[in-house]
Amino acid sequence: MSETLLLDGNLGREFATISAMVGIYCRDHHGSKQLCSDCSAFLEYARVRLDRCPYGQEKPTCNKCPVHCYKPEPRELARTIMRYAGPRMLLPHPILAIRHLLLERKPAPGKPPKDASNRHQRLQQAKAE
Ligand SMILES: [Zn+2]
Repeated sequence: MSETLLLDGNLGREFATISAMVGIYCRDHHGSKQLCSDCSAFLEYARVRLDRCPYGQEKPTCNKCPVHCYKPEPRELARTIMRYAGPRMLLPHPILAIRHLLLERKPAPGKPPKDASNRHQRLQQAKAE
């Protein structure tokens, strides 16, 4: 079964932000015009994590989140990428960058709501059709 993970709303913007950051990081570190295979694999991992994020559309930024859903290795890579690309986002992607900064000021959320993840919503919808 192959499924395309479509992320919209906040999750879609979050994914756009991560993609842009990975793009900047890969360009400067791996010198490729397109994402190298490692960076593509990381981005795909991030997409699946977003899809399963228990907060769904109410998702906080990852560094504020009390749920640690990344495995240690991709988590470390995510940190490295954000640290590098975060400050370099403002010029090429001002709107995504500012949105992300504003989100980071929001207080950390409490327990995630039940059944809010994009994945759950998607499966529910598939069942109803
Ligand atoms: Zn790369």
